This record gives sequence, C-alpha cells and structure tokens, in this order.
Amino acid sequence: MRLSTGFWQTFKEVPADAEIASHRLMLRAGLIHKSGPGLFNYLPFGLKAISKIEKIIREEMEKAGSFEILMSVVTPGELWKESGRWDLMGDLMLKIKDKGERDLCISPTNEEAVVDIFRKSVKSYKSLPLNLFQINTKFRDEIRPRFGLMRGREFTMKDAYSFHIDKSCLDKGYQIMYEAYENIFNRLGLEFSVVEADGGAMASGEAKTHEFQVLAKSGEDEIIYCKETGYSANIEKAQTKRVNLNLNFDLAPLSKVETKGKQSIQDVCQFLGLPEEQSLKALVYKLIKGDEESFIMVIVHGDDQLNDVKLLNYTSADHITPATDKELLDLNLVKGYMSPLAEGNFTKVIDESINSDAFFVIGSDVEDFHQLNFNIKRDLPDSTYSFADLRTAKEGDQTLDGLGTVKIKRGIEVGHIFQLGDKYTKGLDVQILDNQGKTVYPLMGCYGIGVTRIVAAAIEQNHDERGIVWPKSISPYDIHLVRLAKKKETEAIVDDIYQELRDEGFSVVYDDRKAGAGFKFKDADLLGLPIRVVFGERDYLQEGAIEIIVRKTNEKIKIPKSSLIAKIKELWSSL
Ligand code: ATP
Ligand code: MG
Repeated sequence: MRLSTGFWQTFKEVPADAEIASHRLMLRAGLIHKSGPGLFNYLPFGLKAISKIEKIIREEMEKAGSFEILMSVVTPGELWKESGRWDLMGDLMLKIKDKGERDLCISPTNEEAVVDIFRKSVKSYKSLPLNLFQINTKFRDEIRPRFGLMRGREFTMKDAYSFHIDKSCLDKGYQIMYEAYENIFNRLGLEFSVVEADGGAMASGEAKTHEFQVLAKSGEDEIIYCKETGYSANIEKAQTKRVNLNLNFDLAPLSKVETKGKQSIQDVCQFLGLPEEQSLKALVYKLIKGDEESFIMVIVHGDDQLNDVKLLNYTSADHITPATDKELLDLNLVKGYMSPLAEGNFTKVIDESINSDAFFVIGSDVEDFHQLNFNIKRDLPDSTYSFADLRTAKEGDQTLDGLGTVKIKRGIEVGHIFQLGDKYTKGLDVQILDNQGKTVYPLMGCYGIGVTRIVAAAIEQNHDERGIVWPKSISPYDIHLVRLAKKKETEAIVDDIYQELRDEGFSVVYDDRKAGAGFKFKDADLLGLPIRVVFGERDYLQEGAIEIIVRKTNEKIKIPKSSLIAKIKELWSSL
C-alpha cells in the first residue's frame, strides 16, 4: 500500500474523552473515527487489524469443530418474549418497531436466535454435540460507553453456542473451547489470565464459567489472584477468607454512645478508638423480580465492601439497587445510623465472615448515636436472619484452603466461556430425543470473544510514548518501508524493494510521500508496524546500505541490499 495514494491520516490532537492510551493512539494513528457515543467507523488500518483477529479466531474455532453461521443482527421481539428476556434485558437492549408495529431488537447477544435455529433443525441426540459460531455486530446501549473500542455500544463479537445431550458431553465441549481460547489468545500475542467468573444465580456450583482477561493497568475488571495456590477469579465472584481480624470478645452490655457529626465508619471508629473491623454496617437494597419489589438489609464488616453481584445471585432478583432516601424513610430506617437490630418490612442477611461470638459497634436507628457491644448470638433472634458470603474479596485475604494470600490485578475481559445448562432450551421449551427415546432438554454452553475490544486490549499492552507496538500476528501490515530520497533515479530501487518484500509474502506500507524524515518517522512510530525499512538516499549511494529498525526494541541494523530479505525474515521469525 503506497501512502502517496493511500487513505490514511494521522492526528496530533485527540478529544479529551480519550482517556486511555489505546483510545488515544487508535484515534491519532487514524485507525478509527468516532461516529457517535460508543459508535465507531473502522478505517483501513483499523479494519486490517480486526480482520486479522477474526481470521485467527475463525481458524481456531473451525479447528475445534465449530461451524460458522451468521445470524440476523435484528431479531424479532417475539423470541425474546418467549424466553422472558424482553423485559429482563432492560435498556441495555435497543428495541425498535417496524412499520407494522412489530417489536424488534438489535441483538445484544444471540442465545434465543441460536436456539431457534437449533429447534428448527435438530430432533435427536444423534446430531449432538453441536457447536455453532458467528462473528457479528452486537449492540448494547451501555450506561457508560468509554475507552473507545474497549466499551463501545456497537461492537464485533465472536459468539459461539454449543448443544449437548448431557453434562459430561457439555464438560467435554467446554474443555475443547477452553483450549481453543488459549490457542487464540496465544496466537494473538496477548498476555492473559484465565479466571473463574461469575455464573449468575442460575449457575449451580457445577456450572463452569471462565473469563479470559488481558492484563493491563487500565482494565475495568479486578482479578483476585494467589501466587501460592494459583487461584484466580474475577472479584465479582472471588471467595476468600478474612484473616488476622482484631476482634473483641469481652462480654459487655449493649450500650448507646453519642457520635454526633460522625457519620462515616472511619469517623465513628476513630472517635471511639476502635479498629474499623470491630464495627458492622447495615446496607439496604431494593430487590426487583418481575413486577415484585422487596427489601433486604445486608450486614458487613465496617471495613468491607458489599459485593453487588453476590447479593444479586443470593437473592435471585432480576435487578437490585440501593434503597433511596425515600424508601429508607418509608421503611422507618434512619439513614447513616441503621443497625442490624432494626425491624421492618425487609429480610436480613449477614456476611458469613462476621463472627457471631464477637462484639461490635453498630448504628442505633436514631440519629447521632451508635451502640457498643452488639453480639449476634445474644442480641439477634436466630430466625430473623441468615448468613451468606456477600463481601468483596480484598488484598491480604487468604484463599479458602488457607494456603495462600491473595492480591489484586486489573484485566480487560476479552473472552468469556459459560456453561448455560438448560436455561434457554427450557426457556424456549426445546426438547429432543435421547438414546432411550426419552425427550430431554439439551444442555448449552456459550462462548464469547470481544473482537473489537481485543484491538484496544492489544494496544493497551503494547505501546510506548511514541505510539503503537503491534504484536506481529495482528499488525495491520508487516513492514513500513520509508523512502528518504530526492533523486529520481533511486525511485526504481525502492520500488524494487517494495515489490521484493511483497513477493516474499510480507504486507508492506510504502511511505513514498513527498515529506521529510522527521514527519515520516513520527508517523511510522505512531502506526507501530513491527519492522521498518528505511531507504536513505545518502547511505545507499555512499555505502550501499539500507537500515532496518525493529519497532519493539528500537534495534537498528544497517545492511547491504543483497542481504535485506534474509535479515528481515530472520528478524520476523524472532518477533
Ligand atoms: P462486560 O462485563 O465487560 O460488560 P460482558 O460480561 O457483559 O462484558 P459478555 O456478554 O460476556 O460481556 O460478552 C462476550 C464478550 O464481548 C466479552 O467478554 C467482551 O470481550 C465483549 N464485550 C462485551 N461488551 C462489550 C462492549 N460494550 N464493547 C466491546 N466489547 C464488549
Ligand atoms: Mg462476560
């Protein structure tokens, strides 16, 4: 591709909302244009990288026995109503009506649609296992689209769905996908971790689900991991043990203490001269399930955070939200001073890390006062509460087996594999015959990869202050050939090199523009192709030398034209 006639432009400035490196670099390097919030146009170089990612995914999915299909991006509302997700998806799903007033949506995911394909074609166990995949556009009306392709509203996903006659078949299919994903992310040149993920309320302990996380400081996800034991899980799901708690077991009566003006746990505990772990906080959430609403009070240690995902799963609600001031008032609760002793129209659940023999500071259900020496066993009737794991794991916790200490790192979720079980086949009432002639609901797995998110994740992991440093497997082109020459007679020599490199199978961007070295080098650094070949007229005419620069290491090698191809091949295979 010759830049003199190509379609490419770089930019010095980027909008202020481009907060992270990959977003800035993709805009500056002319890979994408924003067309609206969370919406992007992919330009030639950006699209090339996306296509390379798709090719690798396609090859590995096919190798793993999956068949490629392409489902309509617009799906009929009927299907979603049948499964019950038309309402459940909330405003994440973009709903539209056609001119006949029929409900449609722009697919945020395709479980319903694939089950519809399945029920029209498969009647017996003989066709199973079956794995279908597509690489297609999705639309999710995200609350906060941001970070460019990392969290778009319209994005490209590879989604695969598998069907199985029983759990052991599902386990086998899941393992095949797990390994295919490892191959894909290795081939993409990404540094990643596989972590246990949240399976939702549906997933029993038996249902496996893992996320493939690209490690990067800018990642939106937190991963709990333990070097000693190898445990790693998304913080949404991570279960750990609190250790070294400084607890109080001194028997003493419950007593009120004035804490006027001290609202935060930190302030109250500092004022009382107690460590925060000797306090409990009460939080109230509204649970929404179908048309029904109810409330729950959750008790956690003062220095712990409630894990919303765990609470959602525990309650099996469709949605949960913290109770508003008005709702607290209606429940006769005093904001900022709620205690586990409060009673009313709500259920109560206590985080299971809380020791029911210990004594704690709690609210008093009256403004400006707290209470000392609350003890679960003594002060709360057994029948009024239950225990559950609801806290967010944190650094310094121990793994459940007690064999290691956990830390937190950040990741970008680029893939997610999930055992769905019979959720959708039951939901859409799809049964087939097993080998005994009995009708059964087949089990499903689903397997997603964020194709466009991978471009952003790869750049997050591979860039420097000058620009992108592409992993060779997904670089838009292989070689950036720069011609620094004024004399007409050298033009044919560089054209020759351009041709020779392409004959060897390399894809080449040829900077044959009329511009200075500084300008061309800046653009080349920004675009970040793995190898740069610089034809400098003076060097060539005086020494017969051509320069090769490796983008990643900045290694510079001067070499005679006759050895150029061999050297490039050697460097390429070492990258
Ligand atoms: P997240 O937690 O990041 O919102 P998710 O768990 O909702 O993602 P899945 O339903 O598991 O996403 O979708 C499969 C894959 O699609 C994800 O692993 C991710 O790589 C990608 N993906 C999801 N949402 C987006 C988005 N808004 N923009 C780009 N890629 C996305
Ligand atoms: Mg996910």
